[in-house]
Amino acid sequence: MGTALVTGASAGLGLEFAWQLATAKHDVVLVARDEERLTRLAAQLEAAAGIRAEVLVADLTDADDVARVADRLRSDESPVGLLVNNAGFGINQEFVGGDLERELTALDVMVRAVLVLSHAAAEAMVARGRGAILNVGSVAALMASGTYSAHKAWVRSFTEGLAVELKDTGVTATVVNPGFTHTEFHERGRIDMSQYPEIVWLNAEDVVATALADVRRGVVISTPSTRYRTMSALVRIAPRSAIRAIGRYRRAIEDAPTDADA
Ligand code: NAP
Repeated sequence: MGTALVTGASAGLGLEFAWQLATAKHDVVLVARDEERLTRLAAQLEAAAGIRAEVLVADLTDADDVARVADRLRSDESPVGLLVNNAGFGINQEFVGGDLERELTALDVMVRAVLVLSHAAAEAMVARGRGAILNVGSVAALMASGTYSAHKAWVRSFTEGLAVELKDTGVTATVVNPGFTHTEFHERGRIDMSQYPEIVWLNAEDVVATALADVRRGVVISTPSTRYRTMSALVRIAPRSAIRAIGRYRRAIEDAPTDADA
């Protein structure tokens, strides 16, 4: 796979992607907004794994920044063999009456940037006859959890279509659909998860290991863990009215007052 470019590499799943790829001896390009965290990570990866780690500070809500990352993906001097479109966040607001700017920010990071960067990477990779694109979706793509579900459903559908188009080019496209995973995601999004039992949680190490193994095998849809694969299979055959009922239940428990609110 050669050099890997990872968006959202400063925390959570992206940080774990960077570590596992570096440990497997891939050079990495680390993309996110937090320069200090990225620079520290790059130094740690170079020291621990003996690879080259490049820092590319970019805010993926900014079209010029996204264009700079796309230019890096087109480079022939130092080709990128794996693009991991991972950056994202939980929007955690009602659509009706919610902040429209925040909605557009989420769309920019989780849809527009994925589209622009995949476009640049796919073209360069097809010309070379090899490469892989890994998009981080979510099991939320199958649910009815507001615009976040819609963005992740787009990621899933987009990746499947891309995989069809890329067949026999030497380039693959994979979407990984994590369930709830211990990262900074819920804290940053101020999503109260205290009502959920421990059984629903995955750890970033397992999610990333499964995703990278599936990329290496050319799997198109990757769902880490048996419990979330089973859940996804059940959701696919369940009536959509039941899925909408789960959406209403989720809203109710995430809005419920907790001890911390008392
Ligand atoms: P996280 O720990 O909060 O990390 C999010 C990463 O995205 C950070 O590195 C952050 O970096 C970056 N990011 C956010 N906004 C950005 C922007 N405008 N420009 C550039 N980078 C930006 O969350 P995570 O759980 O690892 O999330 C990674 C992906 O997994 C997301 O796509 C998320 O939707 C998906 N996912 C997470 C879960 C879960 O339960 N954790 C479940 C399913 C799917 P900076 O702040 O430095 O920019």
